[in-house]
Amino acid sequence: MASPFVDKVTVEVKAGKGGDGAVAFHREKYVAAGGPDGGDGGRGGDVIFRVDDHMSTLMDFRYKRKFAAGNGAPGGGKRCTGKDGESIVLKVPRGTVIRDSESGAVMHDMSSGRDFTVCRGGRGGWGNKRFATPTRQTPRFAKPGLPGEAHTVTLELKLLADVGLVGFPNVGKSTLLSVVSNAHPKIANYHFTTLFPNLGVVYIGEGQSFVLADIPGIIAGASEGAGLGHDFLRHIDRCRLLIHLVDVSGCEGRDPVEDFDAICEELKAWGPELAGRPQLVAANKCDLLGGDRSNLERLRSHVEALGFKFFELSAATTQGSRELMLAAVRELEHLPPVTVYEADYVPPEPELGSPDDIRINRDGGTWYCEGDWLSRLVASINFGDYESRMYFDRRLRQAGFFDRLEAEGISDGDTVSIYDIEFEYQS
Ligand code: GDP
Ligand code: MG
Repeated sequence: MASPFVDKVTVEVKAGKGGDGAVAFHREKYVAAGGPDGGDGGRGGDVIFRVDDHMSTLMDFRYKRKFAAGNGAPGGGKRCTGKDGESIVLKVPRGTVIRDSESGAVMHDMSSGRDFTVCRGGRGGWGNKRFATPTRQTPRFAKPGLPGEAHTVTLELKLLADVGLVGFPNVGKSTLLSVVSNAHPKIANYHFTTLFPNLGVVYIGEGQSFVLADIPGIIAGASEGAGLGHDFLRHIDRCRLLIHLVDVSGCEGRDPVEDFDAICEELKAWGPELAGRPQLVAANKCDLLGGDRSNLERLRSHVEALGFKFFELSAATTQGSRELMLAAVRELEHLPPVTVYEADYVPPEPELGSPDDIRINRDGGTWYCEGDWLSRLVASINFGDYESRMYFDRRLRQAGFFDRLEAEGISDGDTVSIYDIEFEYQS
């Protein structure tokens, strides 16, 4: 079934490159040779994820899968810093889990509402005004900007709800949600009506409330034996409690015990953890039973023998719905809070290249170094942090960078200048 519902998508995101620094010299009438005044390049824009509570799907990412923030502008003369690149903000529904596509590791769980910067823009290169020293009065060089971060990420929507409704299509899940909460889900007497997850807040009174979720239905044809697509179960992954609805009216010629077991199998197939989630079982459409309660009682003994609490319900007439909601609240009181996924993504170390791939320009006692892998390494380092500086030093050593400088004749006390970092060389 071609559903407009999109709850998992892979996108490429890329931050902007830093702008290059400028080489310029101060010019003024009657002043012969001005000093260097080339400004720094602007910073590349970031890629930021932000929660939008008006969104309930990842549909916006269906056709556009590549996002790039703006590059920083180059610096200018007169000490002008280049304009920073435009950051881009990608809006996602609350509960979207962002993973690194390759490893599957969690980068961030968009459940708190806090913005997440997935790719940081590259720092701008230094203009030549930075390089004026008493012995170096006309520096004719500037530094290029650094590359921005890039990632391929998988976005997966996992609703933030306390209680999830499960059950076959048409058993009355949307009806129940509509009668106990503020939500207005679509209700119709045919299967697979629920294409979007619906969340409703159930108010019990005295400041007691919880969030109830009706999730997108099982795939078309499931009840005819085409197999139950259990992909939709991702939405109830975080739920603290499940309410399992079973149609006991027999109006569709279905067997409630078989239905109950089939859904339990689906939960198990998704994961043992979900199968073990606390469950309340409600027999719905009891108003249609007439005098024949055999279906209802068969289900009751089956379910109670398995240790589940059992409820009679008629969502359509609301009979039994308040009791069910009160029971849910009582359960929630002693259940752990909604799961928030811890980030476990470890960024891979920037790859080192050959020391021969580095361009070295010597100017007196200063050694200016540039190169592809070197720029990626520098871009990944936060030089305000001691540990990071130590790491940087270690990586340069590993790559044979200092051996190359030695071979070129560097001596102790010389300055090594790499993009926006300079340090004194000590062998
Ligand atoms: P869902 O697919 O599980 O969300 O089921 P819906 O809530 O859309 O309901 C499917 C059909 O069953 C609709 O026609 C509802 O009006 C009907 N229905 C739901 N609950 C009851 C009930 O308790 N009694 C009766 N008689 N009909 C119900
Ligand atoms: Mg529904």
